[in-house]
Amino acid sequence: MKENGKETYTAVVLAAGKGSRMKSRVKKQFMKLMGRPLIFYPLRAFQESTVDEIILVTEKDSISYCREKIVKRYGFTKVSHIVSGGKERYESVYEALKRANSDYILIQDGARAFLNDDIIIRAMEAVKKYKACVIGMPVKDTIKIVDKDHYAIETPDRSTLWQMQTPQCFVTEEIREAYKKMMEAQEQNVTDDAMVMEKYGERRIKLIEGSYKNIKITTPEDMLIGKAFMKMRRFKHKLFKK
Ligand code: C5P
Repeated sequence: MKENGKETYTAVVLAAGKGSRMKSRVKKQFMKLMGRPLIFYPLRAFQESTVDEIILVTEKDSISYCREKIVKRYGFTKVSHIVSGGKERYESVYEALKRANSDYILIQDGARAFLNDDIIIRAMEAVKKYKACVIGMPVKDTIKIVDKDHYAIETPDRSTLWQMQTPQCFVTEEIREAYKKMMEAQEQNVTDDAMVMEKYGERRIKLIEGSYKNIKITTPEDMLIGKAFMKMRRFKHKLFKK
């Protein structure tokens, strides 16, 4: 909490993944999209938002590259720490949680380049109200649960299914406590932060609508889709400026 009684927000941007599904020589988070490294986009979105600080998590050998070529170069003055991540996503989040110094935290996949101001505002308002919330969207496809040989064993009712995106947002102290418990229990099958709160925390998770454009760039096809979205965004921007 600030002296003026305003609540404070930390954004965590995760960029310590191997990005092996991208099959590229350059690490996925640093691949260029419209001339800028992928990680530039979520960092810019948070820099231009009202969050108070940004913690960037990357691999140890990319820390100085991030500091010089991204944070300094683009003037991301809200970046307070650049920390070394872990082998798994949840280990990277845990490293950031140790440094976060705020009332609320927004945890963002660095590979989601289409995070925008609307989503950040919705996330910040919702976490204040619900204390634990995740940006997501209703699924469009029918989803099957399969066995280890890929035979369908169940078809959940589609109207009850949402796909999770980021930011995933919490009271900082509460998610830190939940993560601590999870690490002590040596749980390993953790693919998002909401799972940690569901299992080791006290809060129910409220789902907040994001956007079907808020994709995680994972495979080479996603880069093509990303370019198309980016061009659309620039086109709209020009149109409104006229
Ligand atoms: O692997 P996955 O697609 O779930 O990764 C989501 C995000 O988490 C990516 O932005 C990736 O860079 C990050 N990550 C990380 N540390 C890891 C694995 C993933 O920061 N060990």
